[in-house]
Amino acid sequence: MMFNALVVEKNEEGKTSASVEQIDVDQLPAGDVTVAVEYSTVNYKDGLCIGPGGGLVRNYPHVPGIDFAGTVEASDDARYKPGEKVVLTGWRVGEAHWGGYAQKARVKADWLVPLPTGLDARQAMAVGTAGFTAMLAVMALEDHGIKDGPVLVTGAAGGVGSVATAILANLGHQVAAVTGRPETADYLKSLGATQIVPREDLNETTKRPLEAETWGGCVDAVGGDMLARVLGQMQYGGSVSAVGLAGGAGLPATVIPFLLRGVNLLGIDSVMQPYDNRVRAWERIATDLPMEKLEAMVQPATLSDLPQLGKDILKGQVKGRVVVDVNA
Ligand code: NDP
Repeated sequence: MMFNALVVEKNEEGKTSASVEQIDVDQLPAGDVTVAVEYSTVNYKDGLCIGPGGGLVRNYPHVPGIDFAGTVEASDDARYKPGEKVVLTGWRVGEAHWGGYAQKARVKADWLVPLPTGLDARQAMAVGTAGFTAMLAVMALEDHGIKDGPVLVTGAAGGVGSVATAILANLGHQVAAVTGRPETADYLKSLGATQIVPREDLNETTKRPLEAETWGGCVDAVGGDMLARVLGQMQYGGSVSAVGLAGGAGLPATVIPFLLRGVNLLGIDSVMQPYDNRVRAWERIATDLPMEKLEAMVQPATLSDLPQLGKDILKGQVKGRVVVDVNA
């Protein structure tokens, strides 16, 4: 049975190209559960996988798409029955295993989570990997205690940042949203940000390892110079959930904020989260993320839009979350 997929190929000169093609269900990789995919999304990693270098892709031809939601079509695993709604993030799907940019996917049952009550497949993908990661980041801050003072969100107009801003605001925190795009200020305020911090205020390094104690917590999607600067501005005992590296993988920091202010730097990895944590995070998303705010973040797309969107997200030009209707 044939279906549509975005297929990335690599030619003999090592150049990659991505186009929508028809593939056969027999070509799908091995797995216990076949899912009729309804929606996928565009994350930073997808940009790397669609893009010219291939980035994280482990095999060609490849179907990218690091997350998806849909309906079980066939299952060899007792935990999942045909007709049940499921969601997948992580496990190197879309990198080492064919992913969600297709009308069908076949995966290991262990990688799936039942769609939580209160979310449909489209809403689950409006959240997607970026939003799931934002929830994990907020949960990590809660585990370590959020201090007085606003919670900083960097890369705020992006996918992780938008969802983190909405969740934190809904939980009653003051949210300071860092953005390099002043035109997104109204959007960020509509998600609940109480303060907009221009990116340039935090982009420059300083020789001072400690500055005024300002932030009660931080969800950082940017890394690099900005993360180094933020560490020196945390409240005593405050925590930073380090999620991403949109601004660079280096960390030109000193140990002083850790030694003299007891700052915690918490690494967040959404890829290998155990089943129970994934279920807990999705349940929290269903209860703590207002759906009207989620809708405000969504930009719809189809499979044929993906090559361009992959380029846009790597340039930091995507606002909020792109939801891909693979059947459109
Ligand atoms: P987006 O591209 O949607 O958002 C990133 C945002 O970072 C941009 O929108 C922009 O926000 C800001 N930004 C981009 N470039 C720079 C720069 N040079 N300096 C400062 N700010 C910059 O990506 P996502 O939100 O999907 O992902 C963000 C990061 O998190 C990525 O590095 C991604 O790989 C990582 N990630 C990690 C996960 C994990 O498991 N740890 C899971 C998901 C994502 P603005 O315009 O508002 O300034």
